[in-house]
Amino acid sequence: MSITAQNVTKRFGAFTALDNVSVDCPTGELVALLGPSGSGKTTLLRVIAGLEVPDSGTVHFRDADITKHSARDRNVGFVFQHYALFRHMTVFENVAFGLRVRKWPEAKVRERVMELLHLVRLEEKAPQYPANLSGGQKQRIALVRALAPSPKVLLLDEPFGALDTKVRAELRDWLRRLHDELHVTSIFVTHDQEEAFEVSDRVVVLNKGRVEQEGAPMNVFEHPKNEFVMDFLGNVNKLPVRVEGGRALLGETGSVELPAKLFGANENGRTDAYVRPHELDISRTAEGGNCLLGKIVHINPAGSVVKVRLLAEDFGLMINVDLTPDRYRALALKQNETVFVTPKSARIFEADYTI
Ligand code: ATP
Repeated sequence: MSITAQNVTKRFGAFTALDNVSVDCPTGELVALLGPSGSGKTTLLRVIAGLEVPDSGTVHFRDADITKHSARDRNVGFVFQHYALFRHMTVFENVAFGLRVRKWPEAKVRERVMELLHLVRLEEKAPQYPANLSGGQKQRIALVRALAPSPKVLLLDEPFGALDTKVRAELRDWLRRLHDELHVTSIFVTHDQEEAFEVSDRVVVLNKGRVEQEGAPMNVFEHPKNEFVMDFLGNVNKLPVRVEGGRALLGETGSVELPAKLFGANENGRTDAYVRPHELDISRTAEGGNCLLGKIVHINPAGSVVKVRLLAEDFGLMINVDLTPDRYRALALKQNETVFVTPKSARIFEADYTI
């Protein structure tokens, strides 16, 4: 069941929460709506669910225009940030709820509920109450409860927002696994780019009620369309440059040239160049000469990359560099020492784009 929102506009009084938004979720895919707070993610999800009526535009499930259908008639499964399990019902009855409403026969209810509990490895919790479950377990139950009546589509609004990092990571795996098993066309809202990129087949980046970019996660990450997407995808160095004679020169003195592809619109002006932390290297000698001096102010070696923060005093800039653990060990870096930082690549966007 594909989901298509076409030219959807939604206003709350004078405020435009969605401004001519079009989004396509192909059958069986898991699409992430990603964007900062207030960008319209939840509103779009609610329009798709039938909980909000758009001022203009349409929503289609496959070929059917369901814009005017009630939420009840859309056969949508919904998972919210807060588990919303029924506290007075056992885990079994929570999952069975949607089936009982649809008057499934008892034997079928039992079979379906146990099959789903098995899928999330929580069969033994069937007779217990939600109060006896951890946050992650509650959300796994919320997930299968939404899936129990075999909805045509599954909509998830920040489903892991209330959980700690480790449990969030586990639940991402659960969501991805359930999705691969059941292939329910799903849209989930998140403001966490790592989560969106890890779980989804496709991401839609929203900002101020508009779609900035959509595509496969890798494609969006490697080819951000504009400054907003680049910035939002996190942890990027923004370096002020002067563009002169087809070269991007850093700072007032212009002593360092950034290896950036330039657009004509930037010619002979000032702009920002964007450099991801892994696009910079650190060395003890001024290899090639095209580098800046940085004093190491902090090193965070925890994790799969070593994060080094430097102050480039000549330019008044803080710079973040990610090194592989091997490179870090080979350099034997220490806090407060001064090293050379070399940009390996940089991006400059069209000058006429404003955030
Ligand atoms: P968050 O990540 O904070 O949940 P979001 O991207 O999901 O943000 P929405 O909840 O869709 O954003 O809200 C978009 C904008 O619309 C916000 O500025 C919000 O204040 C406004 N808005 C949403 N619902 C209503 C409403 N019922 N009445 C008035 N304004 C609303």
